[in-house]
Amino acid sequence: MVEEYTINILCKQFGIDKDIIRFVEQSERNILKKFSKIDSVKEFNQYKVISAMHKSRLSATDFYWTTGYGYGDIGRDKVEEIYSRVFNVEDALVRPTIASGTHALNLTLSGILRPGDELLSITGTPYDTLQKVIGIQGDMEGNLIEYGISYKEIPLINNKIDINKAKDSITDKTKIIMIQRSTGYSDRRALTVSEIGEAVSAIKSYNQDVIIMVDNCYGEFLEVKEPTDVGVDIMAGSLIKNPGGGLALSGGYIVGRKNLVEMISNRLTAPGLGKDCGLTFGTTRTTLQGLFLAPHIVSEAVKGALLVAKVYSDLGFKVIPDVDDDRSDIIQAIEFLSEDRVSEFCKGIQSASPVDSHVTPEAWEMPGYEDPVIMAAGGFIEGSSIELSADAPMREPYFAYYQGGLTYEHCKLGIYKSLNNLYNKGLIDLK
Ligand SMILES: *Cc1c(COP(=O)(O)O)cnc(C)c1O
Repeated sequence: MVEEYTINILCKQFGIDKDIIRFVEQSERNILKKFSKIDSVKEFNQYKVISAMHKSRLSATDFYWTTGYGYGDIGRDKVEEIYSRVFNVEDALVRPTIASGTHALNLTLSGILRPGDELLSITGTPYDTLQKVIGIQGDMEGNLIEYGISYKEIPLINNKIDINKAKDSITDKTKIIMIQRSTGYSDRRALTVSEIGEAVSAIKSYNQDVIIMVDNCYGEFLEVKEPTDVGVDIMAGSLIKNPGGGLALSGGYIVGRKNLVEMISNRLTAPGLGKDCGLTFGTTRTTLQGLFLAPHIVSEAVKGALLVAKVYSDLGFKVIPDVDDDRSDIIQAIEFLSEDRVSEFCKGIQSASPVDSHVTPEAWEMPGYEDPVIMAAGGFIEGSSIELSADAPMREPYFAYYQGGLTYEHCKLGIYKSLNNLYNKGLIDLK
């Protein structure tokens, strides 16, 4: 039941129509029973993170930082030790100077691959920005193909990895097999950790030497296991998505086997320097506090994703993942079939933001992306998509990708505002 005082603030302060409030309330009633499973995953992951902090003896003095080369930055080393424990791996690189998820993935690929090696993607065409990294889109200096690395991809079949074809495609040149967990800007749901585990076992029993890498962006803390718990060798992601818990100011992480992390650290700094230098600029406290909060924040975002899915599926739109699907990332795609609807949806999300709520988002040519992208984001950290955000590449069939939300209530306000916008413009029928 929405209380009278809540209805009042929604109507008076935010201009939400009472019919919209009733509609959302009814959709919400039908998903509340799914929240207990999300809470169980959150509880486990919260204990996992705290346990890693205990085992690593995280201390108040670990928040000090150094200058210059950054040798003996104990906070940096502690962050990397804690990440290694959380992700159940031998070693980690977690740095504020890794500029983004794309940077972390590029470091991973270019740190491991050598001229003559082949990269094989077994989850179809990778995320937009990685296409430029590889060299299959655009013509960027320094892409992998320019360095003499070849590339092949195998599409998903009915949203599943084609394991037999993957095995058949391995040659003695195949160095890395890449798996993208999350949907990206596509029309598939995320792969679950158990699906990733199945593919890893099958491939490893066929060929032990190939390195299996996962793009884990948006997947952290959705399940009680991570891809590195099921045999993945190396994995990367962004700190301004799930694991930064909304507090990390910037950064990326790479976790996995020690020898691989070493190769990558030589690319990050220089051969001979590796991971022993590189300043953290006083960010270790927020990086770790964000990690501490991440299981909770992710659970709020997942509840928001579930609500937006239910609301728009009740209105007759196709949503991916579907309301009853297992979730393995925080993304909710909604197929709007028109530019107007996508744009009004994004404007609604923007107008619910704590920061820049008065700004109107417009589609623009974002570096690294093929089509113009409209982005709704008014977060405390620029570009942070663990905060409530929505984006849409301007191409058919006009999917909007909704993600994040540090609190469920904020997600709900974004849903009210977006729905209200579409309703006022006559772009939806409440039935
Ligand atoms: C977000 C994302 C990336 C990296 O994007 P950045 O904006 O560079 O952090 C890579 N792969 C997937 C699937 C993503 O969702």
